[in-house]
Amino acid sequence: MALGAEMQQEAVVHVLGVRFHTLTKQQAVERILYWIDQKSRRMVITAGPEFVMQTQKDEALRRIARAADLVTPDGIGVVWAANRRRRMVSERVTGVELVQELLETAEQRHQSLRVYVLGASETSLQACLANFRASYPGCEFAGENGYFRPEDLPQVLARVEAFAPHVWLVGLGQPRQEKLIYEALGGLPPCVAIGVGGSIDVWGGTVKRAPLLFRRLNLEWLYRLLKQPSRWRRQLALPRFAWKVLRNLDGDD
Ligand code: UDP
Repeated sequence: MALGAEMQQEAVVHVLGVRFHTLTKQQAVERILYWIDQKSRRMVITAGPEFVMQTQKDEALRRIARAADLVTPDGIGVVWAANRRRRMVSERVTGVELVQELLETAEQRHQSLRVYVLGASETSLQACLANFRASYPGCEFAGENGYFRPEDLPQVLARVEAFAPHVWLVGLGQPRQEKLIYEALGGLPPCVAIGVGGSIDVWGGTVKRAPLLFRRLNLEWLYRLLKQPSRWRRQLALPRFAWKVLRNLDGDD
């Protein structure tokens, strides 16, 4: 996953030690399509404040974030932190929207992408695959759910390999999905792997995204908290993240 020359010249901004690329969603899509064209192995992380906070305590995850070819700001907290000194990040680039835009663009260009979806429950996965097939008939989709036993991982990866996807979407939750991609990508045929978290549930319609008003007001995190109060413990990462950025402990945000 060496950085290509085209990435080295690109603007990046560091937030608590995590290097974010300042591409818009459409630029990120173009980058991914270019990589697919080049038949290279690439890893994309969509990182919000929770992910940044996970890297603070996990050296292996920090290394993975450094090795990733594209890290997008998935969360208004990251956009805020990145823009504190200089306005460099114009928009959030969430996994849900990035992949939809990628598939729409491929469809418009009659570029037939092979996409493997790994993760979520069987119900969510099948609903997601059905929706994708209906919305993007020019592309080919396969996948399997994310509730396999650790000892079955080799067979899971063998099925990904046999499908030889252009795009491998992995939705097992962070940071497990990033660790899996990092370890497995080198052994797979060239593809662009994207960690997509709970996006498969959204594409499958089993989890609704926040209404537009919440998203416009940058309150998606509040909506998720209200819908799933059990997330409160995880979401404590948000104030901790803001506090750490304000104290500027690392001096690089
Ligand atoms: N998941 C999975 N296998 C597991 C545990 C979780 O496939 O063993 C899926 C889960 O069904 C959900 C996603 O991983 O679709 C995690 O979603 P969440 O919103 O918690 O992740 P985040 O986007 O916050 O990383």
